[in-house]
Amino acid sequence: MERFLQDDKLHEECGVFGIYSHTEDVALNTYWGLYALQHRGQESTGIVVADGKHMQVKKGMGLVADVFKDGVSELKGHMAIGHVRYSTTGASMAYNTQPLKVYFDGGNLALSHNGNLTNAGQLREQLAKDGVVFQTTVDTEVVLSLLARSRKPTIEERVAEAVNQIQGAYAILIMTDDKIIAVRDPYGFRPLCLGRMSEGWCVASESCAFDLVGAEMIRDVKSGEMLVIDSATQVPRSIMWPEKMPQHTAHCIFEYVYFARNDSIIDKQDVYGARIQMGRELAKETKDIHPDIVISAPDSGTPAAVGYALEAGIPFMEGLTKNRYVGRTFIQPTQKQRQNAVRLKLNPVRCVVKGKSIVMVDDSIVRGTTSGKIVKLLKEAGAREVHVCITSPPVTDSCYYGIDTSERKELIAARCSEAEICEYIGADSLHYISMEGMKRAISAIEPDGLCCACFNAKYPDGADEVISREPKNVVE
Ligand code: SF4
Repeated sequence: MERFLQDDKLHEECGVFGIYSHTEDVALNTYWGLYALQHRGQESTGIVVADGKHMQVKKGMGLVADVFKDGVSELKGHMAIGHVRYSTTGASMAYNTQPLKVYFDGGNLALSHNGNLTNAGQLREQLAKDGVVFQTTVDTEVVLSLLARSRKPTIEERVAEAVNQIQGAYAILIMTDDKIIAVRDPYGFRPLCLGRMSEGWCVASESCAFDLVGAEMIRDVKSGEMLVIDSATQVPRSIMWPEKMPQHTAHCIFEYVYFARNDSIIDKQDVYGARIQMGRELAKETKDIHPDIVISAPDSGTPAAVGYALEAGIPFMEGLTKNRYVGRTFIQPTQKQRQNAVRLKLNPVRCVVKGKSIVMVDDSIVRGTTSGKIVKLLKEAGAREVHVCITSPPVTDSCYYGIDTSERKELIAARCSEAEICEYIGADSLHYISMEGMKRAISAIEPDGLCCACFNAKYPDGADEVISREPKNVVE
């Protein structure tokens, strides 16, 4: 997309969905599950279905609705896994589309991965020296190779041996001819949960996918857990596989700030409730400003803006209208039109903002490219004051766990002070939530159990060290 229309957000890399059932249409349910997870990746998608002997694959570049526009009725079986992808490691090319599917000495094998392996380059280099050839540039293929080369007698032991060698963030679904195995890394960076159908089981990155397929949310897959689903009726077997568990989990705090859908529950914390509370915490921290109304940068800032308004006792109003139909392609605007191009996505509601002192709540400022444009629009529409309140602390550091944070030098808070950012975006004041306030809003999780590395460079597993040793010669 044209730079001037890019949103100023961090981007989730992927979402995964899997289902085991002899009575449900597993391909159709996977399609619906992926549809619900579309916000986690829009570049490519795929489904692999297994019937016990064969695996059928359908995948391509684009959105779920486009890739599967001719339906999925030809995919027959009783197990399926699917994937939606947004790439940062591995190019956005058809050959990197997941799930990956291979044949090994145990039969068919398919794999979907959400996350990022920090030592994938080192493992890839070692495997290549041993004669392994790679068909993609995604780190997921490394896991497939480790699995296929393992000499352990069972697939569960092979998976344990493979994942004990990888580092970083991963929620992985592995499908063989007779089972689906769901694995979550020992820190639990990326979400993964288990749902029950009337006759069968499903696993998904977020619980919102269960609602669409009529499944009941049972629980989160635990950090460091392997769930083996090989029966529609028996409860999946749980195996804690890490040779050593970390002292704390490190669930990604940005899932609650922005990535996950409002209607999901992740690690026992409902996302909407966390966002409302973030707004309340922010209101408590900004008692010295006295606005007439609270508005949000739609849609992601809306629950927090509602929370802010509830806490501050001032009205929440819709001061910006979002055009929901802006796609990825459009006729290029002229130079004159470019200045107004942000209006293609967002436009102020003049009768709401004119003459008012406004608090505008948004979830994050990453590169600082859109906040200034929005403030300018609001002022042009007659707003008297615009105070920008952000429900995350300044994003100062890169994420190595499957989130596209851009390079550190592109992060405005890595280069500028808060006062400089405020001046740059033209706001009357700028307030970021405190780290403590943000963590307090996620009351279901211990403060030490959350990853906040993109705000403080404290990488829970020392990923910055691991990444610095990664070979630089991976060719796309
Ligand atoms: S570094 Fe930030 S975006 Fe990445 S996992 Fe941690 S909290 Fe999430």
